[in-house]
Amino acid sequence: MENIRKTLITANGKITCLRCIAMSKRTRLQCGRPAMKLSKGQKCNFHGGKSTGPKTPEGKARISKAHLIHGNETVQIRLERKQKNAYFAHIEDAMHLLDMTTGSRKRGPKPNGYKPIKTIEEVRKRVLQHPVRCARIESFEGPL
Ligand SMILES: [Zn+2]
Repeated sequence: MENIRKTLITANGKITCLRCIAMSKRTRLQCGRPAMKLSKGQKCNFHGGKSTGPKTPEGKARISKAHLIHGNETVQIRLERKQKNAYFAHIEDAMHLLDMTTGSRKRGPKPNGYKPIKTIEEVRKRVLQHPVRCARIESFEGPL
């Protein structure tokens, strides 16, 4: 870092300008391009001289929303999928606790937002909190 040159002399000594101060990770040498005039960090356009991206949370959210263009994926679709996967993982937990299935558990990473259900009491609470209950099971609900 001590051998950083701040200026670049080019055109056979006729032009002196600011030099990009970015260092190469591979060669450990300073970039040889002139820095951009409006660059705050004295960088060329390859090393962040044009823009270093949004800083405020609103700006980051706006850019994140604008750049999600992979197929039919959107933030909303990903959020709904994440919630459904967590919901089905909870159903799997409940089925195993209630001995409704004998199959093996789903392997691999669990979805985000998933908190394992470990007791039948937790299953009972979730059933009671669920907005859609087709048939109420009085013996299961117990005294409220
Ligand atoms: Zn550079």
